[in-house]
Parts: sequence; C-alpha cells; structure tokens
Amino acid sequence: MLVERMRAHTSTIFAEMSALALRTGAINLGQGFPDTDGPPSLLSDAAANIHGGLNQYPPGVGVPELRSAVAEHQRRFYGLDVDPDTVLITTGATEAIAAAVLALCGPGDEVVTFQPYYDSYAATIALAGAELRAVALRPPSFGFDPDELRAAFSSRTRLVLVNTPHNPTGTVFDREQLTLIGELAAEHDAVVVTDEVYEHMVYDGRAHVPMATLPGLADRTLTISSVGKTFSVTGWKVGWVNGPAELVHAVRAVKQFLTYVSGAPFQPAIAAALALPDSFYTGLATDLQRKRDLLSDGLREAGFTVFDTAGTYFVVTDVTALGFTDGAEFCWTLPERIGVAAVPVSVFCADPDLGRSLVRFAFCKRDEVLEEAVSRLAALRTEVRA
Ligand SMILES: *Cc1c(COP(=O)(O)O)cnc(C)c1O
Repeated sequence: MLVERMRAHTSTIFAEMSALALRTGAINLGQGFPDTDGPPSLLSDAAANIHGGLNQYPPGVGVPELRSAVAEHQRRFYGLDVDPDTVLITTGATEAIAAAVLALCGPGDEVVTFQPYYDSYAATIALAGAELRAVALRPPSFGFDPDELRAAFSSRTRLVLVNTPHNPTGTVFDREQLTLIGELAAEHDAVVVTDEVYEHMVYDGRAHVPMATLPGLADRTLTISSVGKTFSVTGWKVGWVNGPAELVHAVRAVKQFLTYVSGAPFQPAIAAALALPDSFYTGLATDLQRKRDLLSDGLREAGFTVFDTAGTYFVVTDVTALGFTDGAEFCWTLPERIGVAAVPVSVFCADPDLGRSLVRFAFCKRDEVLEEAVSRLAALRTEVRA
C-alpha cells in the first residue's frame, strides 16, 4: 500500500526498543526522553493557560509572545539580531525540519547531511523526493573528513542539514568545522538548515556555535530548535525556525498545510520559560554532564569502549570488546540478558556498516535509574569472562 519512496522508512527503532524494554521490564536507555519534569513554572503556566481558555487555534505563525521570546533568546545567548516577524512556531523541531525540506527540495535536488543522523532526516528527504548525501562521522571523535564533505556537494545540492550538538554521537562541531560547511554551502548556493535542539546541552566548558553567527551565513541559514529537550517536555512538540524572511515564508507555506498550528496553551508558557535566569540553563548542563560521567564510567567499567560526549543526552559505545560485532544484535538481546535497553547506531546510518558495532545509550535519567543500569551492565563483564 505504502508509496514507494517511504518503504525504507516504515519502522522506528525507538518504538520497537521501547516496547521490548516494557515487555522485559528493562531500564530504557534507548529513547532520549528525560524521566523528570520540566521547570515547575512552565508546567503551572501551561496548566493555567488551559484552564484560562487558551484552547483555540493560535495565529499560524505562532503567538507573538513566543516569537519575541525566541528572538530575545537568540540575542541573549548568541548575540544574533533576530526580527520576531521572521520567527515561525512549529509542531516541534521535527515539523520545522520537514517543512523546510519539503519547501526547498524536490526531485533532482540533493541534501547534504552527516551520518549517523536523526532518523526523521532520511524519511523527510525521501518524502520530498530529494536525494540524501550523507557524510560519515567516524569514531573516536566523530568528526568528518573535509575531502569527503567537499565531494558530497554538487551542482544539485540544494540544502545542507546540520545537527550540532549531534544526536546520536554527542559530538559538537567547532567553529572550524562549521566554517568549512558554510563555505561549501555558499560555494554551491545551498541553504543551511540547522537542528540545534541540544543547544543548551554542551559540556566541559565548550560553547555551542550556531551557524547563523558565522560571517556571511545568516542570510542563507534557517535555525531550528524546540522546547522538548531544553525544558524536559519532549511530549509538548513546540518548535521554532528563524532565518531570512523569504526562506521562513517558504517554510511557512508548507507548515500551514502540515499542521496549520499547534500548542496554543503551551506557547505563552514557553515564552516565559525561555526568559528563565542563566542559572536554569547552566544547571541543566551541569546536571547532565554529571549524568554523562556516571553512565560513561559505568559503561567503561562494564567493558565497553566509550567515546567522549561533548553534548546532547547520549553516549556512544563500541561493543567489540564485549565479543559482539553487530550492535543491533547486541541491542535485541540486552534487555532480556541484563535488563537494560539501548539502540544500535547502524539504524541512524545510510550505510549501516558505518555504525555496525556501535550502540547508543541515553543518560537523561534520574541518578538512581542510571546507577541501577550501571550495576546491571556490570554483569556483562562477568559474562564475557565466563
Ligand atoms: C529530539 C530531536 C528532535 C525532535 O525535536 P521535537 O521538537 O521533539 O520535534 C530533532 N532533532 C534531533 C537531533 C533530536 O534529537
């Protein structure tokens, strides 16, 4: 029944692994959602808005308070001068990405991105009828080869999709890497679309660099983020995109027929949350950095090869030292054997061999949950010896 272009994109590993975790009572470190709630003021503001009657269609572009708050957030954290009229509120970052790809790409166009990638990218590009050109990010640093990146561009490159901080690898692109991506985009007159949903989850004193802050790039860049990760409310699905007016207008044209609008009672509450003091944002990063260390140390103890994570919710490991060559096989058996669920990195790759022995774990969980997971994982060490 399904149209041909979507046939390779029918299942998501997250649903499958979460179902397996549920069935086996395993601790779910597969899907990246926090197990604690967002800031109390955010929750009570949203509840008050629902009871106060803010329950009908909001404006198609989003409520004015939130558009202004997003513009102010970009000024406060990155020194970017954003006109609230060029901010479009969407149904999560996912819709912003989909609307951007569908608005700007069609058959014959190519989209350059990096693999492994967030799973919606490939599906959305396929839906647009465009072609994916995925440049490998390889361990241990998960950087890219500049020549490979250069070779991925062609006269048909319409768009470059950049996710930093990067899911699943936890890498954070530095200024030099972003500058090269930007130069190649400019050379090929391609639009840059950035997925910055982990912008506030960067560790060890590093800084997140939005591509729109690089010289000359603001006028070809659509910057995307959302409420879900920053405020630990991944089920709310409110996101935003901003950039040059003509690009945002194109995205809006598609967005209005995907969902029209969403999240009326949430939008003003999110506007207030974006203005939370710096202590909220630094506290979030400090807290997650500690969780990263807790889980990374435990995985290392258990015998995994563990790669450094500079940002996001995730740590990537290699299971070769545990006697496995296939991360997917490892993940299918882990819940039953050990009581922990994780996801194989190969499912995020156009070329599954790239991430064959790699497995991703999420550390956005309560400390006691991570500690229990670590103690269960320690049993792997004994299993290998036996
Ligand atoms: C979680 C995630 C998203 C989805 O964001 P929503 O706002 O929930 O749609 C997009 N990109 C990446 C890389 C993510 O990890």
